[in-house]
Amino acid sequence: MNRTRIVSTIGPATADYDSLVALHAEGMNVVRLNMSHGDERFYQMVVKNLRKLNKGLLNPVGLLWDLQGPEIRTGDLLEPISVKKGDRLVLSSRPKTELGRVIVPVSYDQFAEEVSRGDILLIDNGSIKLSVLQVMGTEVRCEVHNKGIITSRRHLNLSGKKTRLPSMGTKDLKDLDLAVKLGADWIALSYVRDAKDMVKLKAALKKKKSDAFVMAKIETAQAVDHFESLLEQSDGIMVARGDLGAEMPFEQVPRLQAEIVEWCRRVGKPVVIATHMLESMMKSPQPTRAEANDVAFAVSQETDATMLSGETAVGEYASLSVQAMRKIVLAAEDSWLLSIKVPRDVEGDFEELLLSAASLSDQVDAEAVIVFTRSGYTALRLSHHRPKASLIAVSHSMKTCQKLSLVWGVQAFHNSMRGDFSKRLQKSISYLLKQGVLSKGQKIVAVDHDGLSVQLVVV
Ligand code: PGA
Ligand code: MN
Repeated sequence: MNRTRIVSTIGPATADYDSLVALHAEGMNVVRLNMSHGDERFYQMVVKNLRKLNKGLLNPVGLLWDLQGPEIRTGDLLEPISVKKGDRLVLSSRPKTELGRVIVPVSYDQFAEEVSRGDILLIDNGSIKLSVLQVMGTEVRCEVHNKGIITSRRHLNLSGKKTRLPSMGTKDLKDLDLAVKLGADWIALSYVRDAKDMVKLKAALKKKKSDAFVMAKIETAQAVDHFESLLEQSDGIMVARGDLGAEMPFEQVPRLQAEIVEWCRRVGKPVVIATHMLESMMKSPQPTRAEANDVAFAVSQETDATMLSGETAVGEYASLSVQAMRKIVLAAEDSWLLSIKVPRDVEGDFEELLLSAASLSDQVDAEAVIVFTRSGYTALRLSHHRPKASLIAVSHSMKTCQKLSLVWGVQAFHNSMRGDFSKRLQKSISYLLKQGVLSKGQKIVAVDHDGLSVQLVVV
C-alpha cells in the first residue's frame, strides 16, 4: 500500500462514477474539489458519485474541499488574447468594451487601488509577466514582458502584495455552506495570510456544527511569515507551490517546501505537496524523470500526501497520472522508508505510549498496529511516528475514517467500537481476518489509549 497518500483533483475529465472507480483503483485516496472551477451542480454530482464509490470500499476515500479565498483572476474573455513582449495591455475590474481596444477583465473591484507603477503582475502562475506602467481610474495599464496567451479565469498574482480582500468572501461562505451540506472532510482555504484567517474559518464551521478538519494553503508571502501561528490553528497544511512560486521568487520554493514539511513533521500535522507534480502528464502518458524525482523527494521528506491538479481534473491521462504517482511513491517508500526519520516532538504519556507502540512494532516486525479512534486523533498521532507496520485505525464514525484518508499510512476501517478494550480488539481482529486484511498467525500491536497500555498479540 502507498503510505504517502494520493489526492486527485476532480474536474470535467473525471467527474463521472466510472472515472472515480478507475482513479481509486489506481491509488487515489482523497478527492479534491477546487472551488475556483465548477458550480454547485457539478460538485453535487461528484459527491454523489464519491458516496456511491465509498459504499463498496473498506477504506473510504475522503473529500478535500478547496475554498477559493481572496484570489484574483482574469474574468471571462470572449476569446483568448495573444500577447508578445513589449505589448501594452489594459486590465480593469470594470472593462468597457470599445472597438479595437482589448481590456482584460479582473475579478477584484479594488484592483486598481492596490497596484501602482512598477508593480509586477503574473498571469497563470507566471506564464505571462506584466509590469504596471500607469493606473488611471479603474484601468491598470501594463507592459507585457513575454509572449503568451491569456485565457479566461486565470490566476493573477500581485507578487507578494497584501490585498484588502477578505479572507472569505460571499462566494466562499456560500461554498462553505455547500461543503458542510455535502459532508466535506477537510476544508482548505486558499491565500491565507495569517492565523486569524484560519480562526475565522473554524468559527464559521463551528457555527454550522461541522467537525471538518481545516487546512491552510501556504501560497502567499504573508503565510510564510506567519507560518508558525498558522500551523497552530490548522489541522493540516498544503504547500501550494503554484501560487507560492508566483507570489514569491520561484527559486525559493524548494527551500520553503523543505522547511514547511519539516515543521509539519516535527509537530505531527498532515502536510500535502501540491501542484505541477506530474504536470507533463496533462498531455503525455509518462511523467518526465524530473517529475518522478519531485514526487520521490516529497516521499523522502515523509510528506503525508502528494496531490494531482490539472493532471486528473482536465488531463488526457487522468488515471495513468494516478498510476504513475503511485508507482513513484511505492518505489520511493521502498528505498527510503526505513532509512530517514525526521525529528519529531513527543510530549506526555499519551504520546510516549504511541511512540512505544510504533517502536515495538518496528522491533518485532509486526504486521500492523491497531488503534481505536473516535475523532481520528489517536490514529493521527500514531502516524506521526511513521512505523513500518500497517496503521489500522478502527472507528465507529465514517466521517473519521474519511478524514484519515489523507493521513500518512493510515487505513481506516468503519466498524463498531462497542464494549471494553479487549472486546473491541477481539471483534476488530475477527472483522479484519474476515476481510482478508490480516491472516492467522500474524503479529500485531494494539494500543489501548484509555488504559495506557500496549499489547503484542498473535491473531
Ligand atoms: P490552486 O492552489 O490549485 O487552487 O491554485 C494550489 C497552488 O497554488 O499551488
Ligand atoms: Mn493556489
